[in-house]
Amino acid sequence: MNKEELWQATLAQLQFKISPANFATWLKNTFILSKKEGTLFVSVPNNFSKEWLEHKYNKIIFQAIRSLDGEVREIRYTVERAQQKPREAPPRSAAREEDQLEFPEFKVDRSTNLNPRYTFDNFIVGPFNELAHAASLAIVKNPGSVYNPLFIYGGVGLGKTHLLQAVGNHIIKDSSATKLKYMSSERFTSGVVSAIRNKNMDTLRALYRDLDVLIIDDVQFLAGKDKTQEELFHTFNTLYEAGKQIVFSSDRPPKAIPALEERLRSRFEGGMIADVSLPDYETRVAILKAKMQEKELSLDEEVLDYIASHIQRNIRELEGALNRLAAFSRLNSSKIPTLAEAKPLLHTVIQNPNRIASPKKILQAVAEFYDLREKDLSSPSRKKEVVRPRQIAMYLLREELRGSYPFIGKKFGGKDHTTAIYACEKISKELQGSEALVDEISLIRQRIYSG
Ligand code: ADP
Ligand code: MG
Repeated sequence: MNKEELWQATLAQLQFKISPANFATWLKNTFILSKKEGTLFVSVPNNFSKEWLEHKYNKIIFQAIRSLDGEVREIRYTVERAQQKPREAPPRSAAREEDQLEFPEFKVDRSTNLNPRYTFDNFIVGPFNELAHAASLAIVKNPGSVYNPLFIYGGVGLGKTHLLQAVGNHIIKDSSATKLKYMSSERFTSGVVSAIRNKNMDTLRALYRDLDVLIIDDVQFLAGKDKTQEELFHTFNTLYEAGKQIVFSSDRPPKAIPALEERLRSRFEGGMIADVSLPDYETRVAILKAKMQEKELSLDEEVLDYIASHIQRNIRELEGALNRLAAFSRLNSSKIPTLAEAKPLLHTVIQNPNRIASPKKILQAVAEFYDLREKDLSSPSRKKEVVRPRQIAMYLLREELRGSYPFIGKKFGGKDHTTAIYACEKISKELQGSEALVDEISLIRQRIYSG
């Protein structure tokens, strides 16, 4: 038996002893390098696999080998440089290596502001983000010609930045568009502010208006920034007329962004608007599994189920939970945490006070969403801009906390319980006929729960 055959035969045996997921994770891309005086050298793709094979699987691997080749007395696992994934190629110190496994550090390109970590390949698609994903794919095929602008909105931690960045990365790689810029709206704003101060607005304009693709993240932060909105409006028009692709994201649809100039709002609404909602259970599990592969972490189904059942509204938090378990595993000789071990580790993520609604949080979220102060909600004001958010807040107090009507009335500056009843009924009724209101309230809920 040559060394390839020996390893194939070994793997064939191991397949019956290790779960398919673990087998794929830990034994993929392994092979025998050489055999010297009873020591078998096995090449593994990275230090993480090395650790797992040494600590967890060495015994069964050794038994399998011995049954095939009685000469082997010891197995050594070694990481071959050439085998490493490209992203791990640059040499680094051992301490850094560990960080990198957990938070692979990718270099952000300074001219485009793109982070190569965000791609379509590692973006999981489910019913909750299907539309936004499909629209993004459509524009990368033909920038500037299908949906322009593309406007993606949804709550915190649900993949908006990931999608926007994936669009950018894909376009840069695959199309003739070369001048591309991704920026947060804060960065866009600070550019405008400093250009005004330094009197070099023309330079800034020339820079933006020369782009093939402009991507601006979190445009809800442009609320109330009139000068910046004006610049964006003109930049938008120039690019749009030249057939250049523009992509925006926001935590809410354009019509719900307060203090936004009407003409800019209508530009935001002029192309394709796609929302990202909350991932269902199956998709949460699928996301966890994909991230486990990335992190080279292995977990039991019951632990996965525990995480997916308890973290429902934020994909970043799903990742956070995995990072904790990965750290545990590293510190405990690659032990796979049991559910009993995992629970206390996840305590802070899962018992996060943000997960629980409170009157305070509801008022805060509603006030923020409508750009009001919390105290406006409990003021006696009868102004339309205040009355409606107040009714929505009352409705949410009832729905989320099962608050009694007198309790709700009291929370809003001592109003009568009939006012609370009226508000809740009015909003409930309106919800039946208005999809826009359903969206609006779902976005406020996301805020309440994602903190
Ligand atoms: P947002 O911009 O909506 O607040 P992000 O794009 O920053 O959210 O996503 C938060 C984290 O979750 C990121 O690490 C991102 O890679 C990850 N993530 C979000 N959506 C997905 C998805 N569909 N598939 C894989 N990872 C995702
Ligand atoms: Mg984001």
